[in-house]
Amino acid sequence: MSAGAATGARPGPITLSTPAKLLKGVGPVRAEALKRLGVFTAGDLLFHIPHRYEDASTISPISSIETGMDATIVGRVISKGVIPTRKGLRIFQAVVKDETGMIEVSWPGQPFLDRSISKGDVLLITGTVRFFHGRQLQPREYVNLGDDEEGTDSGRVLAVYPATEGLSFKVIRGLIDAHLDGLIALVEEYLPPDLLRVAAVLPLAESLRLVHRPQSLAEAARGRERLAFEELLFVHLLRRRAHILAREKREGIAFENRRDLTSKLKASLPFPLTGAQTRAVREIVMDMVSPHRMHRLLQGDVGSGKTIVALFAALLAIENGYQSALMAPTELLAEQHASTVRRLLEPLGITPVLVTGSLTGKERREADARLRSGEPLLAIGTHALVQQRTAFGRLGFVAVDEQHRFGVEQRKALGAKGDRPDVLLLSATPIPRSLALTLYGDLDVSVLDERPPGRLPVTTALRPESARERVLQFIDREVEHGRQAYVVYPVIDESEKTDMKAATTMYSALAAGPFARRRVALLHGRIASEERDTIMRQFRDGEIDVLVATTVIEVGIDVANATVMLVEHPERFGLSQLHQLRGRVGRGADASYCILLGDVSPEAAERLSVFVGNDDGFEIARADLRLRGMGDLFGERQSGIATFRVADPLRDERLSDVAHEAATSVLEKDPELEQPEHAAMRRVLGERYERSLELFRVG
Ligand code: ADP
Ligand code: MG
Repeated sequence: MSAGAATGARPGPITLSTPAKLLKGVGPVRAEALKRLGVFTAGDLLFHIPHRYEDASTISPISSIETGMDATIVGRVISKGVIPTRKGLRIFQAVVKDETGMIEVSWPGQPFLDRSISKGDVLLITGTVRFFHGRQLQPREYVNLGDDEEGTDSGRVLAVYPATEGLSFKVIRGLIDAHLDGLIALVEEYLPPDLLRVAAVLPLAESLRLVHRPQSLAEAARGRERLAFEELLFVHLLRRRAHILAREKREGIAFENRRDLTSKLKASLPFPLTGAQTRAVREIVMDMVSPHRMHRLLQGDVGSGKTIVALFAALLAIENGYQSALMAPTELLAEQHASTVRRLLEPLGITPVLVTGSLTGKERREADARLRSGEPLLAIGTHALVQQRTAFGRLGFVAVDEQHRFGVEQRKALGAKGDRPDVLLLSATPIPRSLALTLYGDLDVSVLDERPPGRLPVTTALRPESARERVLQFIDREVEHGRQAYVVYPVIDESEKTDMKAATTMYSALAAGPFARRRVALLHGRIASEERDTIMRQFRDGEIDVLVATTVIEVGIDVANATVMLVEHPERFGLSQLHQLRGRVGRGADASYCILLGDVSPEAAERLSVFVGNDDGFEIARADLRLRGMGDLFGERQSGIATFRVADPLRDERLSDVAHEAATSVLEKDPELEQPEHAAMRRVLGERYERSLELFRVG
């Protein structure tokens, strides 16, 4: 009697969509566990790829590891047991041995491991080596390789798979190994050959073989690269397509590129535009002449010259007979923009209209009347621009400076002041382009990745607590020479829980002691905004020498005479935030300094060294992202990045750029993926991403 007759059913030939439970070696229990790993079909199993690899170059011989090291070892359990401690904690301990020696491994609070780890098992363990009655390894992660020798042979690369309760690594590896050849034989390439060529990645079948059975770490990386590329490509295709559809639906004003005022501005500027500025202006003009409404993010490092780019856009609207508005988060910033713009537009005979809360009643009524009249003009202001009383007769373009300082509602409210004006958001938090595309999928993005020439770098250093007195004396000397300084603290008040220095107490201490002879002021977020503006104005006008503050000063204020930025408890700030703070100095012709003061842990010092040694905001943002993770920087909700299984948009930034370009050019040629060479890709897209159903006519 054959097996088939015994079960009463003959399974058909295996395909990639065969349910996993029909695979040899998978019973109902394993099938359930596989589902928890997202493996429902034979094809899913093939795409269950290792999350890391170990080989001779990553695995240390046990005899070689020393206290303090972070190490990965592979060894056999020669004894084990649970030991209680006096405090009631139970520790699972094992002694693990390889050809070179043995070491004790200890899992505090995990006595249950006694059931899953047996004497004779081979374990792969990563952890830190401590000294505790001799060397001891404290595991961060371990994989039970079972009782076979495989994987311990030197020279062989070990693929480590995500496992789950009830389905050990060993079983997963066994299953994949058993079915790999059969399943790979069923795989058909779905990416068009020219895309593989452009991205320089391998065909699918070969890549899958390499990720599951690499001969070297380099092979594994080659295989992974293809899978990461296809994932990035698919995500970019979906985003791009969604984006195009949204844009097509967005009616707007089709401006005419008259080159009247814009050419005049260009001719009268005291400097040439940087290449990046020229590119951004061109992108914006293209948007504005199209009949679709512009939704564009302009991002660039502090000092990259975003204001002028926005000004070109504003003039394009004005020369078409429309009104433009530029909104800034603080009065001071609005005033600063107004005075810059007044200077630049003087030769053109245009004066900006300032709209803030501190206009007199008469001034405000006059401003309101001009906005309402619909005459072409540039309004510059604060959120006063979106107040109910403010009405524009013919608003055609709006720009929002330091856009992250405004809520979504306020940004929208400004756009709603006109009949679908074009919108430009300015952001000084530089995010790598491919990331910005992932984060702000519905916006077009222009990047100023080049700084105007000739600016002096800010001397930056981390100084220990013991240098406090010298640092304060240094600041005092700068003030003596007529310069000004910022001193920034992470918190407003001291709390009982920490011994962290706070702005209010340090303000009193500094004003009474080291800076007793100086004019010192305090600025933080709980001070009413009118008073904050007054203080900032005084600082701008040189009536205050030392400004003790929290990060409220982070926003783009320009006091050329300020030459020192002192940051206390620097470990409490993100690197990008420190970079923004540093951007407050170095705005004039004088040498400027950014000093981080405090005794920080070695880890914090290492992190801060990225900031100290680097003045490129994009690089710093990248490092920040790598160190703190997306969620931390952008809030969990915005970081839809978790959708990636293989790719890592940070590590794979170059690949992501290539994928983005590929996606863009594919959709240019074939917007709905209808051409035969894209049929296979479209099918897979439809299978993998639910969203594709609404975006392409798939399936
Ligand atoms: P941010 O991007 O930080 O908002 P700004 O627009 O305030 O930068 O510009 C910073 C400074 O650089 C301003 O003083 C501005 O006049 C100057 N600037 C802008 N573009 C150029 C350029 N192409 N060449 C020289 N200086 C420039
Ligand atoms: Mg700015």
